[in-house]
Amino acid sequence: MSRIALAVHGGAGTISRELLTPSREKAYKEALELALRRGHAVLERGGAALDAVEVAVRALEDTPLFNAGRGSVFNADGQHEMDASLMNGSDLRAGAVAGVQNVKNPIGLARRVMDHSSHVLISGMGAFEFAHQQKVELEDDEYFFDEFRYQQWKEVVGSDTVQLDHADKEKKFGTVGAVALDAAGHLAAATSTGGMTNKKWQRVGDSPIIGAGTYANDESCAVSCTGHGESFIRAVAAHDVHALMAYKGLSLEEAVRVVVHEKLPPLDGDGGLIAIDRAGNIVLDFNCPGMYRGHVGNDAVYHTAIFR
Ligand code: ASP
Repeated sequence: MSRIALAVHGGAGTISRELLTPSREKAYKEALELALRRGHAVLERGGAALDAVEVAVRALEDTPLFNAGRGSVFNADGQHEMDASLMNGSDLRAGAVAGVQNVKNPIGLARRVMDHSSHVLISGMGAFEFAHQQKVELEDDEYFFDEFRYQQWKEVVGSDTVQLDHADKEKKFGTVGAVALDAAGHLAAATSTGGMTNKKWQRVGDSPIIGAGTYANDESCAVSCTGHGESFIRAVAAHDVHALMAYKGLSLEEAVRVVVHEKLPPLDGDGGLIAIDRAGNIVLDFNCPGMYRGHVGNDAVYHTAIFR
């Protein structure tokens, strides 16, 4: 069988070992593994990398453990505004949504933008209208309510503090993403997030920005990022991994190292990324204490980890 591979992440940041109880750690790892299983099943039956990353990210959006979909953080108005994007490496098609509310699976809406609109990125009320038109599943505010997130928000509401979900010592969840290589040799990447707690003015992070938080190109690699979005946008982080491989001939591992450990830190770019190349090599790297992550290859052995 041709090489197939899939990696997922559930955010990177300051994850304190002391506060991660064995039962919570187990819950995170199980959630990551479930996403891997769903995506891997698609790849095993010869499905497309694009379908695999969408399915894996949906699974992560459906758990309140991560800052995406159901578990999205609160913005300054006490609401949830979600961003998501995905990209197909064989033809560079991409779809993205920013600042969407009440959409159960923003990654599914991003996929519809790719497949059923002539646009790449749509936002806010327009995206909501599109969601209606496409009859995607919607949920009321209650569905997105999470006591942890609410307390996180209460600590900073009314201030100018914007915080990375997983930068908080006690509550650290994160943006989710997936990258995959399918049996036909194609790559794809997907990322979904609730953004940053207490974000204002319809702030949009790197996750829905093609080239910043998400990028896929069969020539080189597929990448999904997590971390301080403003820095990842300025570093054009995901595309930079591709560029270092395509124009400079670096290996995936080396290209990721340069971006994560050399380019992002001077821009206060705490975080990490997951990446995969055409040969099925997987790199999961971060410049902060931890990143929720997992990967699987042809052997169907599921690997998950949080710390280094
Ligand atoms: N990158 C995301 C953002 O800035 C946050 C995260 O990775 O958790 O919106």
